[in-house]
Amino acid sequence: MTEKDIKAVGIISGGLDSMLACRVLMDQGINVTAITFVTPFFGSAKGETAAASLGITHHVIDITGEHLKMVKAPKYGYGRNMNPCIDCHAMMFTKAGEVMEEISGHFLFSGEVLGQRPMSQNVKALRLVEKESGYDGLIVRPLSAKLLPETEAEKAGFVDRERLLDIQGRSRKRQMELAAGYGLNEFPTPGGGCLLTDPGFSIRLKELFEVSPQADATDVTRLKYGRHFRLPGGSKAIVGRHKDDNDELEKLFSPDDYSLQVEGITGPLVLLEKGADEGDIKIAAALTLRYSRAAGRTAAAVIMTGTGETERKVTVAPADDEATERYRIA
Ligand code: SF4
Repeated sequence: MTEKDIKAVGIISGGLDSMLACRVLMDQGINVTAITFVTPFFGSAKGETAAASLGITHHVIDITGEHLKMVKAPKYGYGRNMNPCIDCHAMMFTKAGEVMEEISGHFLFSGEVLGQRPMSQNVKALRLVEKESGYDGLIVRPLSAKLLPETEAEKAGFVDRERLLDIQGRSRKRQMELAAGYGLNEFPTPGGGCLLTDPGFSIRLKELFEVSPQADATDVTRLKYGRHFRLPGGSKAIVGRHKDDNDELEKLFSPDDYSLQVEGITGPLVLLEKGADEGDIKIAAALTLRYSRAAGRTAAAVIMTGTGETERKVTVAPADDEATERYRIA
């Protein structure tokens, strides 16, 4: 078997580390296929750009349903925020393994660096991910391989361990040198790719899971936009902060949700969840006014519409600081 016959399937986020991992294997003549996963918490744009610049085969796989189920109850718990990195990585490698089998590939890889994230990238966590994924011995981390136990893939000669690397820790120095050596000039800055590591988003998500254990992908996607308020009757109001929020929220209405907007004045689009009681409707209307150009008025009319309902006017005073803070989630 020549080197070119060896096929490796890698998980790539599109960050520099994942690009370097691909390049290190490509240098050995290994045929690299990359996969980027998509959920409401992270997207594929960087992965697509990276794969295109490397000229490798790339698959984008949406794992929203299965991933959300896991995020609600991860076997190995969360990191500092709502990031269940061990379960998440294991799931990704399981999926990548399915692709590897489909194409008769030989091993899996990722751009993980030992010690870069103390909780999920220590030796124990990396081993745990391998075992949980169902592909124990077939996951190579080219950037840190020399510091990790030899894998079955290396023992079988699918990849030359001597030409793999021994990078560890949070410093980016070695990676920057390698990038320069490979002529990789354009790559995204590290971090910022996964909302589950974002403290503010995590507060919203935790609150959502507590109040609505059945929360679906739409409920989770809504957390990305606007200001969120949990009202005393139990419903949620989401207030767009700017036009982009308003546009995105508009796409995320479920049947029977209410939309609120100030009559005749520029202001936010407010999404009020279906089933809101009269008390919550009045508070949502007051919040709608607070974030509009009518915020200084003593009272104004808010137009409320809902699926299958005729338009309704709710006249209230803008919400004061105390009410706004009391109901605000994050
Ligand atoms: S940072 Fe996000 S995408 Fe990455 S392993 Fe953790 S939970 Fe998954």
